[in-house]
Amino acid sequence: MAECIFCKMAAGEIKPAIVHETDQVLAFRDINPRAPVHVLVIPKKHIATLNDLDAGDTQLAGELLQTAKIVAEMEGLSQNGYRTVINCNAHGGQEVFHLHIHVLGGRAMKWPPG
Ligand code: IMP
Repeated sequence: MAECIFCKMAAGEIKPAIVHETDQVLAFRDINPRAPVHVLVIPKKHIATLNDLDAGDTQLAGELLQTAKIVAEMEGLSQNGYRTVINCNAHGGQEVFHLHIHVLGGRAMKWPPG
């Protein structure tokens, strides 16, 4: 998608602060962190929302989750714990329409979310 900022990161046209990368997945630091650690995990392929994940994306979805776990390990979050979030569409508070998992940690999280 030509105008998608996360696609530009996946293509290397914009350089985020990369934490981890595979052929299919990129993890980088959120520009407006909401916790001491705030990393976004995206598929390099453009998928707008979780609604748009189809059956052919099952392997990719698994790799996204595995990457979230790896990022948590790399950032030292595994023992104390962390939160993963996928916002979807308006009620979910989604602002960037390229699927991403937020990995948030480094402090205790509240529940329920706002
Ligand atoms: P959403 O509300 O789930 O769509 O979250 C989008 C996230 O992308 C927000 O936490 C933003 O701070 C983050 N974000 C937007 N633009 C950039 C950027 O250029 N680099 C890193 N993170 C970004």
